[in-house]
Amino acid sequence: MREVKFFSGENIPLEMHKVRMVQRVYLRPIEERAEAISEAGYNTFLLRNKDIFLDMLTDSGVNAMSENQYASMLQADDSYAGSETYYRLEGVLQDMFNMEHFLPAHQGRACEHIISRLLVKPDSTAIMNYHFTTTKAHICQLGGKVEEIIIDEGLEINSSLPFKGNLDIEKLKNSIARIGKKNICFVRIEAGTNLVGGQPVSMQNMREVSKICRAEGITLVYDASLLSDNLYFIKIREKEFADTDIREITREIGSLMDIIYFSARKLGAARGGGILTSDQEMFLQMREMIPLYEGFLTYGGMSVREMEAMAIGLQESFDMDIISQTPIFVKVLCEELISKGVPVVTPPGGLGCHVDAGQFCSHIPQEKYPAGALSAAFYLASGVRGMERGTLSEQRNPDGSETPAHMELLRLAFPKRVFTLSQVKYVADRLTWLYENRQLIGGLEFTEEPRVLRFFFGRLKPIGDWPEKLYKKFRQDFGDSL
Ligand SMILES: *Cc1c(COP(=O)(O)O)cnc(C)c1O
Repeated sequence: MREVKFFSGENIPLEMHKVRMVQRVYLRPIEERAEAISEAGYNTFLLRNKDIFLDMLTDSGVNAMSENQYASMLQADDSYAGSETYYRLEGVLQDMFNMEHFLPAHQGRACEHIISRLLVKPDSTAIMNYHFTTTKAHICQLGGKVEEIIIDEGLEINSSLPFKGNLDIEKLKNSIARIGKKNICFVRIEAGTNLVGGQPVSMQNMREVSKICRAEGITLVYDASLLSDNLYFIKIREKEFADTDIREITREIGSLMDIIYFSARKLGAARGGGILTSDQEMFLQMREMIPLYEGFLTYGGMSVREMEAMAIGLQESFDMDIISQTPIFVKVLCEELISKGVPVVTPPGGLGCHVDAGQFCSHIPQEKYPAGALSAAFYLASGVRGMERGTLSEQRNPDGSETPAHMELLRLAFPKRVFTLSQVKYVADRLTWLYENRQLIGGLEFTEEPRVLRFFFGRLKPIGDWPEKLYKKFRQDFGDSL
């Protein structure tokens, strides 16, 4: 995508691709949406795609692939062992990060499983800018702990700081001194901090963290799942890199890390995952686990067709016209919402637009899941599916009490190259309507609550009859329109 100056004087974002295959979507009338969200236990994860107009749940495995990605799938070599597909993908990744060894795994959390088994000991601590749901689950499953050291501004909804995902260097030093390096299993940097607004990490910050970890002998792990947005921001927000090729930026990141892993459901716009390292010892230990948990070493649980598509998708993530689409759409939607007074995380980051449900639904206490309620209410009002990223996505403490999330967010993700500008405008319009009527939204309570990763399958019900009230107001304002 590129912002082009129009005759009117405005800068208008233009898609740098054309659409050659489409999927029909349906905008159901609000009566049917009310039924669908009730059947889904007010959890947007449990909605069926046939009832969804715009699916903004996630960018995971739902990015539009390019013609070159589809073409590459035809040359996939499905030999069980020694597949040429594997060697092609390995070559692309080694070159991309300038690292020696590549291990395939079926998706991001599978990489986390392998890396956690390699490094996490009971009672050890993993230090990171911020956790991701599956990352934390794997570390805790093995008896480890997570300590978050994102800069303070990273957890403030509004800021003008360009790199809100940065690790706080003072906090890092203090944590190392307090915990002791022997008890630290690794330090992890997550590109584009998923749970706190898709906020990027600067190269400067990565350099400093790497320097400290190298001096202390602590393993530094990089979660590159959201790398493409982060690369875009390094290029446009970090002055030093304005004229640096994206490939060079990526190779410098590789030079700072001991282990890099990624979900190729995001990075590379296919489906799969992978781990890279130049450390021979760690490589050999992880290599033993791949056939046990994933699949043989030359496919790691992935379809070889997806691996071919990934190899091409990874190379496409060096093209600014391609990787700019999500951050530019996020900016357009955020700016439109801000102009209407709707609270969103600023500055606009990658991944999606993050609506501040804490402020949007300030009348709903955290134990009644304001972000979950807003996600359900927004589906009802628009047919658009977003994702709760707040207390519902946390886990209860052993004594049954809630862990209140730092932020209550409704995330509206932008899968890459999937939506158009008029669809973005529809999202802004319906969300603005909902904001005007926010007092009608009420809380939620669980009817079925799983113990682990409860947000995936948990079922809830509204406290009171607020969906009914919202529906009536919608009909009043929109007549018989969808
Ligand atoms: C999605 C994601 C993961 C997990 O990847 P999956 O492919 O969904 O298992 C890990 N880390 C980050 C930052 C992610 O966004």
